[in-house]
Amino acid sequence: MAVYRCRVCGYIFDEEKEGKSIRDIDVCPRCKQPDDRFELVEDDSSEMVEAQQN
Ligand SMILES: [Zn+2]
Repeated sequence: MAVYRCRVCGYIFDEEKEGKSIRDIDVCPRCKQPDDRFELVEDDSSEMVEAQQN
């Protein structure tokens, strides 16, 4: 699960809290801009890779 931030309004979309993927929404819930305005903030899957290495 990853966390994304809307670059337009700053809305944080946490896939785990929302219970759905960023791909499941078409627009930002707050500012209604297209979901391609979201940038990746945090990706848990990459942290898991690091943990496995340690
Ligand atoms: Zn937004």
